[in-house]
Amino acid sequence: MPVELECFVDCPSCGTVQPADRPDCIDGHGSDCPEWICSVCLTAVLVDPQLVALATRRSSGRAVA
Ligand SMILES: [Zn+2]
Ligand SMILES: [Zn+2]
Repeated sequence: MPVELECFVDCPSCGTVQPADRPDCIDGHGSDCPEWICSVCLTAVLVDPQLVALATRRSSGRAVA
């Protein structure tokens, strides 16, 4: 079954880390697609998968201003 992957991006438009949604990939990247959309302002953000993991780990730990 599909997995809802919780992801956060450092949104340049919001100027802070925001929860991100995965858009439908039309470029054939599959699960490696670096494209995310800020769920707050809907700005498209390209994210390195490693940065995604880092941001997710950071946000799930202690709070970061
Ligand atoms: Zn944003
Ligand atoms: Zn893609």
